[in-house]
Amino acid sequence: MGVGGLGSPASTYLAAAGVGRLVLADPQVPEPSNLNRQVLHWTEDVGARRKVDSAAMKLTALNPGTEVLAKAVTVTRENIADVFDGCDIIMDCLDSIPARMVLNEHALRTGTPVVHAAVEGWHGQVTVMMPGTPCLACIFPRVPARAAVIPIIGATAGTFGCLQAGEAIKLITGIGQPLTSKMLIGDLSSQFWDVVEIGRAKECPACSAHSGR
Ligand SMILES: [Zn+2]
Repeated sequence: MGVGGLGSPASTYLAAAGVGRLVLADPQVPEPSNLNRQVLHWTEDVGARRKVDSAAMKLTALNPGTEVLAKAVTVTRENIADVFDGCDIIMDCLDSIPARMVLNEHALRTGTPVVHAAVEGWHGQVTVMMPGTPCLACIFPRVPARAAVIPIIGATAGTFGCLQAGEAIKLITGIGQPLTSKMLIGDLSSQFWDVVEIGRAKECPACSAHSGR
């Protein structure tokens, strides 16, 4: 969900790893300011095609064995079940908390694992949400005022998108320990990295409805 700064590296490494089917959902067209981090979109794609089509072209060229479904739609409460029908994992490669809440509700309703990442400037975070673990509404209890421009160093988005792909490969293969109930946080400017335990928010309006507590 989102084929930008996180979705570009995440989908590239998943296609390269041989994932059989990728569903790309993003309504946008690449803009010049995207090119520092949205590495699946090139100068020739700016204003010329949707991000999902730009990404599908390159991912299919990289691995013709990966089926890539390009869905140039804004994902909403009404269409999310349709858009991600049959998906085993959803990658949160978004930059909007309201959109994340739509994804969160769907994941809680269907029990679909979500690999979440978020980046800004030099820093970012990754976690994996599964049934019973903290949900995205536990992590983002409020919707902060949205800045007009969110500065992102491209390498930050690239780093965290790769970490997301790694988490998805762990879930698919059953190898390693996924980052559930833990959050990896990192800042490339100081190279401060840590894994912190995270718990479910008391009376979280989203996941308490699905857990009976
Ligand atoms: Zn919650």
